Amino acid sequence: MSAIAYEDRAAGGLEQLGLTIAREHLDTASQLAAAQGWSYSHFLGYLLDGELAFRREKTIRVSLQFANLPYRKKLEDFDFAQQPSIDRRLIDELATGRFLAEGRNIILQGPPGVGKTHLAISLGIITAELGYRIYFTSVIDMARRMAKAMNEGKLAREMNNLVRPTLLILDEVGYLALDPVQASLLFQVIANRYDKGHPIIVTSNKAFSDWGDVFAGDAVMASAALDRLLHRSTVINVRGDSFRLKEKRQAGLASSHPKGGPS
Ligand code: ADP
Ligand code: MG
Repeated sequence: MSAIAYEDRAAGGLEQLGLTIAREHLDTASQLAAAQGWSYSHFLGYLLDGELAFRREKTIRVSLQFANLPYRKKLEDFDFAQQPSIDRRLIDELATGRFLAEGRNIILQGPPGVGKTHLAISLGIITAELGYRIYFTSVIDMARRMAKAMNEGKLAREMNNLVRPTLLILDEVGYLALDPVQASLLFQVIANRYDKGHPIIVTSNKAFSDWGDVFAGDAVMASAALDRLLHRSTVINVRGDSFRLKEKRQAGLASSHPKGGPS
C-alpha cells in the first residue's frame, strides 16, 4: 500500500477502533508534529494521552452518576480545625485508596452532625476518581428495597447491585429499627461483600455493644456481622457538637444550649 493510502486510512482506523478523541486530535497532532519535529513515539503518546484522559474522565462521571450520593462534598471541604477528634493523618492515609485493595472496611461512629456522612462521601468521591464503582445508600433504604425485591423474586439482582461496586457506603446504621427480614438482608450484604473482599464504609450512631439492636435484637447475627466488618477495618470515633447546630449558633439562629437535643 502506498504512503498516501495509509495516511487516508489513519482517521478511519482510529474511528473503527473507537478511539474517537484520538481521531478528533489527529489533524492537529499531525500539524504539531510536523511543525515541532516530534518523534513518531512522541506523536503516538500525544494522541493516546488525549484518548486516555477522556476515558478516565468518563469513567469517573459514570461512576458518580450511579453512586446515589446525597450530596457531593470533598475532603477539601472538610474543616479539620472544627473537628479535633479526627486524626487528619488517618484520613489522609484513607484518601490514598489503599483500603480498597486491602478490602479494609471503614467504620465512622459518633453522634449526629459531626461529619460522618461528609467524610464517607469524600472518600467515595476519591474512590470514584481512582476509577472504581461506588454506591451510597442509607441502611433503611437498602433494606426496604431488598425486601421489596425479595417479594418480587428479584433479590439476586438487587444483591448483585450491592455487592459488585468496589465500595459500598452504608449510611446511618442503627438510626432506624430494621425488622428481622431486613436485618438478615443487611447481614447477607455484609457477608457477601466480605467474601469478595469488597470494602464498606459504615456510618453509625451506635456503639458496637449496641449492634444487637441494629439486627432486630439478634445478638448472634450482630456478632457474626461485626466479626466480618471488623476483621480488616479502620474504626474512627468522631466526637463533638453537631456542625449543623454550630453553624446555626454562629449565625445567631439557635441558642447555645438547644433544648430539643441533637438534630
Ligand atoms: P453526620 O453524618 O455525622 O450526622 P454530616 O456529615 O451529615 O454529619 O454533617 C452535617 C453537615 O455539616 C454536612 O453538611 C457537613 O458537610 C457539615 N460538616 C460537618 N462537619 C464538618 C466539618 N468539620 N467541616 C465542614 N463541614 C462539616
Ligand atoms: Mg449522616
